[in-house]
Amino acid sequence: MYDVIIIGSGPAGLTAAIYTTRASLKTLVIGGLKWGGQLMLTTEVENFPGFPQGIMGPDLMSNMRKQAERFGAEIIEEDFTSGDFTKKPFKITVGEKTFEGKSVIIATGADTKWLGVLGESEKIGRGVSSCAPCDAAFFRDKNVIVVGGGDSAMEEAIVLTKFAKEVIIVHRRDSFRASKIMQDKVKKNPKIKFILNSEITKVLGDLKVEKIEIKNNKTGKVEEMPIDGIFVAIGHTPNTAVFNGVDIDEKGFIKVYDHTKTNIDGIFVAGDVHDFHYKQAITAAGFGCMAALETEKWLREKE
Ligand code: NAP
Repeated sequence: MYDVIIIGSGPAGLTAAIYTTRASLKTLVIGGLKWGGQLMLTTEVENFPGFPQGIMGPDLMSNMRKQAERFGAEIIEEDFTSGDFTKKPFKITVGEKTFEGKSVIIATGADTKWLGVLGESEKIGRGVSSCAPCDAAFFRDKNVIVVGGGDSAMEEAIVLTKFAKEVIIVHRRDSFRASKIMQDKVKKNPKIKFILNSEITKVLGDLKVEKIEIKNNKTGKVEEMPIDGIFVAIGHTPNTAVFNGVDIDEKGFIKVYDHTKTNIDGIFVAGDVHDFHYKQAITAAGFGCMAALETEKWLREKE
């Protein structure tokens, strides 16, 4: 019987684990087959306080993991299958195994949002990607597109310029929502070009991406354009599909009722799985801390 079972091992889940274990709560982290969350797919993180020279995303997560394990967190690298949240103790199933927890913190984060256009899904890994740090090297001296107008799109474009011949940012509006500093960086980079007010409507090619069909939203003009790769950076979808009984909003994010509490007594939430606003590693870590403190208080009051 665990005092707390944390589902997810990104900044929210691991920060929660650091706090719960330091409060002497027996803690299990269902880390997932791909533990560590979105930062495992990034290169340099420049905005996490405490690292004046920046830190590589996987190094930051590895440090957080070691810190949680140092205080006794048990971390399993398997995916959460299902949970029975109808009675206490809560039962969490992971493959063949079932674990019991007095409380649960859901910190499952969010996943890549894809365009959903014809030809896209079958070319993921064949020219369509969502992770420039992972795949940029495959596009040495090639022409690639980045879709999106946020910080992620800017960051992906900059990473790609290290390898690609030309990087074109395709955005559906004529202004970007990315921070000014990121916009300035891409605008200064001679390898980066822009196609604005436009959306990809088809991904074309036999075995791999060869061209796209692109539509100008202002003029309605549709044309084909040869391209070697497409990096989709249009945001993320929260990982909430498997939580029966937990209230989620119309966009799929878990609803928070009061200080990291969900609608189910004893189930708390932290990070990108509920936070559609800030979506930062540091805010996820902050929410992880809050959820752990609330869980500790809740357990103390129950016992
Ligand atoms: P985001 O800020 O939500 O931006 C998503 C972009 O994709 C928007 O420009 C949006 O267009 C576009 N978009 C959404 N759905 C689309 C669709 N179906 N087709 C075409 N375009 C679509 O997401 P993000 O860039 O992933 O950033 C998430 C958060 O992480 C932000 O708070 C960001 O600041 C942060 N972040 C920070 C850094 C950094 O500090 N270095 C790096 C990456 C991310 P519209 O603008 O028209 O809505």
